[in-house]
Amino acid sequence: MLPDFLIIGGGAVGLSNAQALLRAGYKVTLAERGTTGQEASWAGGGILSPLCSWDYSEAVTRLTQCSMGMFEAAMSSLQDATGIDPEYIKSGMLLLPPFQNERAITWCASHQVASREITLSDAVPGLTGSGLLMPDIAQVRNPRLLQALRRHVQKLGGVILENHEVHSFEIENYQVTGLQTTQGRLCANNYLVTAGAWSKVLLGEYALGMDVHPVRGQILLFKFDIPPFGHILLQDSLYFIPRRDGHVLVGSTLEETGFDKSTTEEAKTMLLQRIAALFPNWPSPVKHWAGLRPASPGNVPTIGRHPNITNLYANCGHFRYGVTMSVACAGLLLAEIEGHPHPLMTDEYRWSV
Ligand SMILES: Cc1cc2nc3c(=O)[nH]c(=O)nc-3n(C[C@H](O)[C@H](O)[C@H](O)COP(=O)(O)OP(=O)(O)OC[C@H]3O[C@@H](n4cnc5c(N)ncnc54)[C@H](O)[C@@H]3O)c2cc1C
Repeated sequence: MLPDFLIIGGGAVGLSNAQALLRAGYKVTLAERGTTGQEASWAGGGILSPLCSWDYSEAVTRLTQCSMGMFEAAMSSLQDATGIDPEYIKSGMLLLPPFQNERAITWCASHQVASREITLSDAVPGLTGSGLLMPDIAQVRNPRLLQALRRHVQKLGGVILENHEVHSFEIENYQVTGLQTTQGRLCANNYLVTAGAWSKVLLGEYALGMDVHPVRGQILLFKFDIPPFGHILLQDSLYFIPRRDGHVLVGSTLEETGFDKSTTEEAKTMLLQRIAALFPNWPSPVKHWAGLRPASPGNVPTIGRHPNITNLYANCGHFRYGVTMSVACAGLLLAEIEGHPHPLMTDEYRWSV
């Protein structure tokens, strides 16, 4: 029997969608070009919030806030089901000056997001002045989240086909009839593209109005014996994410370099200079990596059915916040597939020409 859905791409979005479809009783196969969870979803920081939410549209706010509200329960049930701890921690995010104080406080108040001014030296040794703490902002540890999702998809009966790169679609009478992959032909009743930054290229002429392209981000990793501070720190676009075991991720860059995900000395130097301006005695990095974000205009993903092809869906283009959005966007697509109303369903996310 054919699977109900063939999902293309096994990042946080593809695996979350597989999980949601399996839970709803569908038969799911996922085809992944390499190994699941090794691209943007692995490379990301795992902050479960936009950096400066007030810089984004309501379409981004609605999706991120809905997902953020579901994450704690989702991580707890994922851990119970798999035995893998995705390290969901409500570490809070602390904004360091300079930032748009009035704008941030007003936005938080109007969106029921807790925030309060604090003395920086109380939270971060070596810093002076005051900052704005958003205590409810959480993080996850991406590689662990991805391992847990992968295991859960398999436990729910999903089939994961790794080293299966999809290279073309067979279309007849406005229906996908099969996919050509590096391992031969695959068929299903419905098809879902969750190929992150590669989604538009993969769809080729069938991408129509979808606008997704890669934007590189680089991260440096540091290791301390004990975490040097407890909160995520944010200064402009520079962030520090402290993990429980003393690792601290510092990022990131936003670079238009096509599908090149190599790391550069230039980015490393820039990040180290910015770190040194805050913390002069910071250690040397233990790792440096890059990933390709699936960039979309305004950071608004495409979630829904193809405008013309009746059994083809997409969930891609989550740009800087795909891990944050992953829980809600899987629910939103499921509602779209089943024709149920969903509080988040608006034309802004639809796949239109
Ligand atoms: C440096 C950096 C920091 C980030 N920080 C955060 C953060 O703190 N919080 C947050 O929420 N988000 C963050 N993000 C963004 C987030 O990581 C992405 O939005 C998210 O991972 C996108 O998930 P995805 O599943 O769509 O894409 P991906 O994780 O890239 O997965 C796509 C998958 O599709 C596969 N694929 C591609 N083409 C094919 C094909 N032809 N056939 C089969 N498989 C294919 C790929 O191999 C890949 O596994 C960050 C990203 C980067 C790079």
